[in-house]
Amino acid sequence: MLITPEYVFKDVTHITPEFLAGKGIRALVLDIDNTLTADRSQKLPDEVAGWLAQMKEAGIGLTIVSNGAEKRVRPFAEKLGLAYLYRSAKPLPFALMVARRRMGVKRKQMAMVGDQLYADRMAAALYGIPGLMVIPRGPDLGVQVVLKRKWEKRHWQKYYDRGGKTL
Ligand SMILES: [Mg+2]
Repeated sequence: MLITPEYVFKDVTHITPEFLAGKGIRALVLDIDNTLTADRSQKLPDEVAGWLAQMKEAGIGLTIVSNGAEKRVRPFAEKLGLAYLYRSAKPLPFALMVARRRMGVKRKQMAMVGDQLYADRMAAALYGIPGLMVIPRGPDLGVQVVLKRKWEKRHWQKYYDRGGKTL
């Protein structure tokens, strides 16, 4: 199934340079809401700031790809000095293609980091790259997201039923 997770991390800080090196991944496309910070929050948790610095130091290319509006995405990304794309229409994979070209990596060198199976995981699958899923930071604010979480549940479960671990 397109949206069953391949990798599940407790949060982004558990994605290590060693893990990425082992998979030949040199660039990450990053979701914001419930991935880097809480839903709709402009604040960046300290541990996530530390993780981003660690990724940059390891030479990992980083681009924010969010479905959020410009006013949500731009201030957040600019504060961090990260490249960004807003209104990305995930699960459609077009923004991933744009991000990949900008970062100048091959498709097999890039992965998507996000929390939503119907947006992030599916976009990654449609584009043919790994989806590194994180457990949503929560809480969810939008009604749509709450609904989607309900639909996602059995797909998360499938990962664990297959012996998948939270990395
Ligand atoms: Mg999200």
